[in-house]
Amino acid sequence: MLAQLLTEGKNFIGEVALGNNFSLRHREDSNVDESKLKLYQYPEAAREIARYDEKGNYRPLKTAPDLRRSWLLQLRNVEEMALALDFFYPAALSLYGAWLQKKLEITSLRETLDRQTGMYRVTQKLSDNQSQLLINKTCHEGCLRKIFWPVTADQETTTFFQDEQTIPLLCREACNLLVAEARKIVKQEK
Ligand code: SF4
Repeated sequence: MLAQLLTEGKNFIGEVALGNNFSLRHREDSNVDESKLKLYQYPEAAREIARYDEKGNYRPLKTAPDLRRSWLLQLRNVEEMALALDFFYPAALSLYGAWLQKKLEITSLRETLDRQTGMYRVTQKLSDNQSQLLINKTCHEGCLRKIFWPVTADQETTTFFQDEQTIPLLCREACNLLVAEARKIVKQEK
C-alpha cells in the first residue's frame, strides 16, 4: 500500500517526509543537508526517535506535533519504511487503508466513555460542553490525527480535507489519553 501511495506523490505523513529512495526524515528537515542529520539504517530506530521530544520529555501521544528533528532513516525497501512508520504513527497506514475501502469503523465519544470501568467510569458524566472543550484542547491543538468520531452516535461523522501530498492520520475512536483528560475534567467539577 505504501508503495502505491508514494507513486501517487504522497510524500508526507504527520511530521515525517517520505523519500522515494526509501528514506524518512522530519519534514522540517526536508532541505537540510544530509550530512547534518544523524543517520540510522534500521526501521526500529523510529521507535527511539519517537520516544522523546526535543527537550527529552517522554511523548505519550505519538501523533502529538512534537516529533524531534535532525535524523535521517535510510532504509532498504518500502516494507522497512512501512515498519518505521508504524513506530512513528501506530496503525496509521492500516486506518487510512480501511478508510479508502470505506471500512473504517467509527466509535462515538459517548460509546467509548460508556464502556469505561473502574477509575475511568466517572468520565461518563462528561457534559457535551466539556466534551467540546476537551476535544479542542487535546485533539485539535495537541494531536495531528483527524477526528472521525462524533460525540454521540446519532451525530454525523466528520470528514476532512484531503491534501494530495499527504497521507492523513485518522482517528476512529477516542484514545486513552483523551479518556484520562476527560477524567481530570470531571473530577475537577466535583
Ligand atoms: S482522541 Fe484521537 S485525535 Fe484526539 S488526541 Fe487521541 S488520537 Fe489524537
